[in-house]
Amino acid sequence: MANLPFVNPATGEQFGQIVMATDEDIKQAHKELRLNFEVWRRKSVADRVRILRLLQEVIIDSVDEISAVLNQDTGKSRQDGLIEVMMVVDRMHHYYRNAESWLQRRRVPPGLYIFRQYYTEPHPFGVVAVIGPWNYPFDLCMSPVLSALLAGNTVILKPSEVTAATGALLEKLFQRVPELAPYVRVLHGDGTVGAAIVESSPDLVFLTGSTATGKKIAEATAKTLTPFLYELGGKDPMLVLEHADVKAAAKWGVWGAFYNTGQTCMGVERVYAVEVVYDEFVTAVLAETEKLKMGYSPALDNPNHMGPLTFERQVKIVREQLGDAIAKGANVLTGGKIDGLFMEPTIVVDVDHSMKLMREETFGPILPIMKVKDETEAIWLANDNEYGLSACVWSNDMRQAKRAAHRLQVGSVNINDAISHYPVSELPFGGVKQSGNARTHGREEVMQFTHLRSYAIGWPPLPFDLATQMRYPGRYKLGKAILRLAFGVTPRQRVQPIVEVVESVKKAEVKPNVGKWAAVLGGLAGVTAVLFGLFRFRK
Ligand code: NAD
Repeated sequence: MANLPFVNPATGEQFGQIVMATDEDIKQAHKELRLNFEVWRRKSVADRVRILRLLQEVIIDSVDEISAVLNQDTGKSRQDGLIEVMMVVDRMHHYYRNAESWLQRRRVPPGLYIFRQYYTEPHPFGVVAVIGPWNYPFDLCMSPVLSALLAGNTVILKPSEVTAATGALLEKLFQRVPELAPYVRVLHGDGTVGAAIVESSPDLVFLTGSTATGKKIAEATAKTLTPFLYELGGKDPMLVLEHADVKAAAKWGVWGAFYNTGQTCMGVERVYAVEVVYDEFVTAVLAETEKLKMGYSPALDNPNHMGPLTFERQVKIVREQLGDAIAKGANVLTGGKIDGLFMEPTIVVDVDHSMKLMREETFGPILPIMKVKDETEAIWLANDNEYGLSACVWSNDMRQAKRAAHRLQVGSVNINDAISHYPVSELPFGGVKQSGNARTHGREEVMQFTHLRSYAIGWPPLPFDLATQMRYPGRYKLGKAILRLAFGVTPRQRVQPIVEVVESVKKAEVKPNVGKWAAVLGGLAGVTAVLFGLFRFRK
């Protein structure tokens, strides 16, 4: 049986290992979770919330253990580990308060078909496979698992092989809540285990990972049309416009670029600064970058801003992109040195869109800054990319900032800050283009783990119901009259049926009773028109 080692990227020390799941484990997990799904889905939302709150309690009690494992597993500081826990618990708190209202049945107005009742009810999919990344391995595994469970699904979680110790810890945390344990299984392994889970016909797959993996899973799920939700890579632009607070933009732009050693999906990956502020901005960025400390410490009060890259693959990517940029004329103003998995925060200028550094996801501590003429060029270049995760715009002229934000092709925009939109539990986060189709946070995160079932309820067809009448042949004229009365756009279209009735009575030359019949029909048409008007209004 193959093992996954736990490796501290800062020291290279191996501090444990775990057995990878086999095909038999995957089969067995499916079998159990499918059976247990029938039990979990039948629990009321309130009961599911009660059980998931027990997990919240366990997580809060285990915060020191979690931050210690994250520190060893990724090299990030204990404080950054705590932030991951805080984001998850904040979200849980918010979701648990709202879940009953989100997941309830909703009445649907009947429109023309007034003799029956209609409603929709969110239903869970069944067994959901959640596949997680290594950059925020606690938050990005826990959050979709909890949302899927809350919605009534059972879950197979496959954490990243790169942060296998966090995967093992997640499993322990679930097992500490015996009432929850039967409904979630953690299967450890690399991409081959992930691929085998996808092939094993789960009812929905949720991936947080790279766009390359997203494309592979999209191909695999297309064979069975299994629903697939994905949160993928980004190349998030930062726009520094002429009315920006340049010092603030430099300070928080640097933070947004180098937080988590640049390994944040919505971190600042490229900057477009308009020429009137460019020089001042670059000077301020260099001053801020000088202040950053790099290093590893397991202590609670770690003074370092940046730790190591999490594994060797990231070093290869940053080396390759930096080399390509330098070969094409870019200049490194500070940083650039790599020692093991530690890389200095690096500022690069004289960049353009022929360079990989400006087009491909870097996911490391390099910040390229490009001088642009104006807002229009900045927006055009920001959109000139296959990714569309998020962006930030810096300008104290709010009209300008919002105008630019509106024109960006991304899932979220932060005005005058970076990354800080992500932790807000009620604000949906996710990408467009090749960055994703899923959403985390808010009602949208929970509801995407459900499908809507629609119900139409009533007694067997009643003769006076329009839905019954239109089943019989010979109702063309009735249908046409209703079409006009109910949906006519202009008054002319709406009164046409009445005019037609009056005209047909005239043609029949039923002289003695014309007035009486016209009054009766007109009255009936009027009442019908009012009724239809009311139903339209209710819609
Ligand atoms: P990755 O794609 O290499 O791996 C993600 C997960 O997919 C891992 O668990 C891996 O084992 C699994 N996997 C790999 N191949 C697979 C296959 N063929 N079938 C099934 N599963 C497979 O991504 P990563 O390097 O772990 O994470 C970094 C990437 O994630 C970056 O691109 C980053 O931008 C992205 N990310 C996106 C978000 C977001 O919210 N949009 C958040 C965090 C990270």
